[in-house]
Amino acid sequence: MAAARIQGLPVVTTENRDAPGPFLIVCEHASNHFPAAFGTLGLPPAAQKAHIAWDPGALGLARRLAANLNAPLVAAGISRLVYDLNRPPHSPGAMAARSETFDIPGNAGLAPAERRRRTEAVYLPFHAALHAEIARRLAAGTPPVMVTIHSFTPIWFGKPREVEFGIIHDADPTLARAVLAEAKARTGLDCRLNEPYSAADEVTHTLRLQATPYGLANVMLEVRNDLIADPEAERAMADGLAPVLRAALAAMSPKPAEKAAV
Ligand SMILES: [Zn+2]
Repeated sequence: MAAARIQGLPVVTTENRDAPGPFLIVCEHASNHFPAAFGTLGLPPAAQKAHIAWDPGALGLARRLAANLNAPLVAAGISRLVYDLNRPPHSPGAMAARSETFDIPGNAGLAPAERRRRTEAVYLPFHAALHAEIARRLAAGTPPVMVTIHSFTPIWFGKPREVEFGIIHDADPTLARAVLAEAKARTGLDCRLNEPYSAADEVTHTLRLQATPYGLANVMLEVRNDLIADPEAERAMADGLAPVLRAALAAMSPKPAEKAAV
């Protein structure tokens, strides 16, 4: 495991770095840690533990998937409310002053210098670490298949969400469509494409920044967090989704006859 501590901050952790599998797992909203350098943004303890601060269950699921798929995992170590790593620096959502029904006092009216400080302390090292893993594999002639792991809350603005497994794509829908087909065939989950969010909601920043420019196959996976609420459930979900990802990748690969025809 390699952890980058920037000015003492546990910004990013890379696990299973030399795992040889084709996938690269990413978890931008893995942590609800609020380092002293930024404080708790005026949030009461309950809000610091709520889904607005992180994606509950996502890190456990991502770790299990990385183990099942023999893949590296790049995971964040700081709350998304300090800096949301799946948003670009100019986006208001990168340091949101409001999330669902919660105000985030410490993010209200942020001065440009503070936005730059957080960008330099959190966003830049995380994405540099992720890019390093991609570059190593590109150099070795084994471009990774990027899968980002997220979770979403079952209740949103007071309304229940029926979708259980959301599969979201950026510019290239190929892997997402293959994952949808395999998930429908292999799991009993309510699976939907581009729900509960889509690229139009600006949720594909990591894919757009790190995967799309290199032509990497990529997909963002969103699991409803009541389905991964404890380690046993995380394990069961990973055991269900790992074969889905393997089969989706196999389905994307051209058949030998198609290859010969090109
Ligand atoms: Zn997320």
